[in-house]
Order: sequence, then structure tokens, then C-alpha cells
Amino acid sequence: MVDGTLTACAVTLPVRTHAGVPCASMIGMARWVALYAADPTGWAGRGTSSLVGGNGREHMRFRNDRQGNPVSILGFGCMRFSRKGMGIDYDKAEREILRAIELGVNYFDTAYVYPGSEELLGEVLERNGVRDGVRIATKLPQYLVRSAAAIDRYFEEELRRLRTDHVDYYLMHMITDPAQWESLRRLGIEDWIAARKASGQIGQVGFSFHGGTDAFMEVLGAYDWDFCQIQYNYLDEHTQAGRRGLMAAAERGVPVIVMEPLRGGKLVDLMPEEGRDLIAQNPRGWSAAEWAFRWLWDQPQVTCVLSGMNSLEMVEENCRIASEVEPGQLTQEDAALIARIADCINGSVKVGCTGCGYCMPCPQGVDIPALFRCYNHMHTEGRRDGRKEYWQTVSLRKERAFARQCVGCGRCEERCPQGIAIREQIRIADRALRPLPWRIAGDVARAFAVR
Ligand code: SF4
Ligand code: SF4
Repeated sequence: MVDGTLTACAVTLPVRTHAGVPCASMIGMARWVALYAADPTGWAGRGTSSLVGGNGREHMRFRNDRQGNPVSILGFGCMRFSRKGMGIDYDKAEREILRAIELGVNYFDTAYVYPGSEELLGEVLERNGVRDGVRIATKLPQYLVRSAAAIDRYFEEELRRLRTDHVDYYLMHMITDPAQWESLRRLGIEDWIAARKASGQIGQVGFSFHGGTDAFMEVLGAYDWDFCQIQYNYLDEHTQAGRRGLMAAAERGVPVIVMEPLRGGKLVDLMPEEGRDLIAQNPRGWSAAEWAFRWLWDQPQVTCVLSGMNSLEMVEENCRIASEVEPGQLTQEDAALIARIADCINGSVKVGCTGCGYCMPCPQGVDIPALFRCYNHMHTEGRRDGRKEYWQTVSLRKERAFARQCVGCGRCEERCPQGIAIREQIRIADRALRPLPWRIAGDVARAFAVR
């Protein structure tokens, strides 16, 4: 190891496929495991570092977690494995996971509620003898928790599914409102975390977040988190936790894991024609996905970017990009291009709300920016996505924030720099976001999920 750069030596470990046959493509992975075995800390390398992968060309980049452990800047999101029949295509997913490990990915993100995901990840890691070479992140389904005993129950089940005796990174899943963390505190979650950390069953604790920036700030400050996970990409720079949340986390020394770097593929598949042309004509020659990844990795405050990779080509392409980037590489021209692409995508929005928040707080509790954000998403990314986001970020909050609470006082319109007819527009947006079936389902879900 020289200056934090690793060069793997050829060591073959007794690694076998689940059919029991040694696999040539796994030799590189065995080298990776050997590196860990040779490092008494369990982590080879510190600070910004790179690892030569299976074919000798890839140099995965790493950034440190809060304890100084290097995390690959590309993480494997285990929510979107390819399906086969009623379940996950095991063999395909195994090949993708092993190839990712071979190329240096060491962060695997799953959750209790991703169907079959924890079981598959646990089986693949155990069967191939690579559990100790990677870090597992999984999540407590806090929205299902009703008692202290339930926290234990979910965690024990997750350990069983993952075939491990410890979880490296444990997240409170999908916090959208500080009240959810408060509910967990009342159930004694802080003592529970301390005990599980002391026993070595949990390495580090964080939360995954979907909600507004102010709510994120509140949750961030409510506990001494080891890390957090946010939805972040160049379209969400000023929504959800946003850049403001990212910077606040960095200032507190809280590493940030990024989810939805491509907005569920929307920064690739739903790119308007004009945006595609801009990308095609640019001399960089990068794909739409590469622009999105590079925008994220250009920011040193981003520790790891999760990608739900479900093909070998995607694994290899993402690892290639992750092996080439350093913070601060993008030029002003690059940033201007990304801004133009974002403008293209945002050009199809219905309401010209910038999310500035000047209209807030509404005395009746209506979350005006969130309403317009989701309404616009309905038109840029599809009706279902916009409604789903509204469901996640507004409908399930403890304090109601619906447009129907508006009493028409007009205070918001006096403050809106965009001159939006907010009173009229929120009614239109609400009707679109919550048609009757969604409204009924939302009320039922609130009755069960909101404490
Ligand atoms: S007009 Fe409605 S949305 Fe606007 S501040 Fe008053 S109550 Fe809130
Ligand atoms: S003040 Fe206007 S532009 Fe700003 S968040 Fe409110 S509605 Fe949107």
C-alpha cells in the first residue's frame, strides 16, 4: 500500500460458486478478500484511495465513513434485482453482486421491506465466503414499529435473513418527519442502539430520509448520527434534503449516502429530446447516467452513491465511472450543461414553484412547496411517481399538511416571489395528487402508520 493506493496481488482463496465449482471470474474477488484478510483493521486503506479490480484497469475510489473506514463511492442498491417468475433471478443477481465486489464495491444497501432482498444478499455473501469483505447496510422499518419488543423482533429477523451476526450500517428507514424519530425515542431506541453497538451487532447508525429540507435539518440535529441517506441528484438539488441538507450533514461530520442518483432511471429514460441532444453533442462523450453520477461524485460531501444495478454491463459501467472521478473535476462548462439539462426537464413543469419556501409557514399547516413539487413530478416523471412522492413525504406525516386545510387567508401569495396564485393552484394540485382512491388509501394508511 503506497499513499493509500492498493494494488492487489494474485491470491486465490477457496471461493466457490453456489454449485460448488470454482469460478475463474471470482479470482479477482478472492484477491479482494485476501486484501482484507491481510489487513488487521479489517479495512485496507485509509482516506481517498483506490483499488485495482479484476481486470487490472479499474480503480474503485473510496471515501471514509465516520470511523475512518473506506467506503466505495459506488454502493450496490439491493432494491431492484431482476425478477424471474415470482421471485428474484438468483443466479443473475449473484453474478452481479460478485462482479461488483470484484471491482471494489464494498457497500451493499438493503432493507427489511425489499422483497427477498435481505435473504438473497445473505445467501450470496455466505455461500461465496465474502461476508467479511463487504459492509451491509439494512434498515429498521420504523413505520411498522409499535413497541420496544418489535424493534428487537425486526432486527433479529434481519440478522437471520442476512445470515450474519452483525449489521455494519443500520438505518431508521424512511424518516419523513421528526415526529417519527420522537416516537422511536419514546420506545427507548437510543438505549437499544447503545446496547446493540456495545455488543458489536450494529456498527454504525443512521437514517434514510424523504421529506423537506427543514424536517431533514431537525432530524439531523436530533441525535448523534453516524451517517444518513438522502435522495439527491441534480434535479433534487433544492428539494428533499437538498444541497443545504448535504452541507449541513458535512458540517456535522455526518457522512451522506445518496439514493436515487438517477431518480429511479428518470434522468436517463425520461430525458426530453432537447436534453438528449445536448448530451449527444457534448465533446465529453458521457452518457446521461454518467453526467448524473459525475455531478454527485464531484461533491466531496457525498460519501457513497447507491445504484440499483441489475445487469453486468451496468455494474461494469458504473464501476468504470467510479474509478475515474475525483471531486472538483467538473468545469464551469460542465456545470452549465447540467443546469441546461435540468432546465429542459423542468421545462415541462406545471407550476413555476422554485421551492424557495418564502410562502411558509402556512398558518394552517399546508405544505405548499411539497404540494407543487409532487404535482410537477406528476408531469415530468409520470402521475404515479408524483403521487407516490406525495404519499411518502406528506400524506403519512403526523401533522396533516393537506391543501384542504387552506382557509384562503392569502398570506402565502403575498410572499411568493414567483407570483403564483397559490390558493387556486393548491386545490388543482391536490385534486390531481389525491384522487378519491388515493385519498381513501391514504386515510387508511394514516390510521395504521401514524402514531
Ligand atoms: S391562503 Fe391557504 S395556503 Fe396560503 S397561507 Fe393562507 S391558509 Fe395557508
Ligand atoms: S413562495 Fe412561491 S415559489 Fe417559493 S415555495 Fe412558495 S409557492 Fe413556491
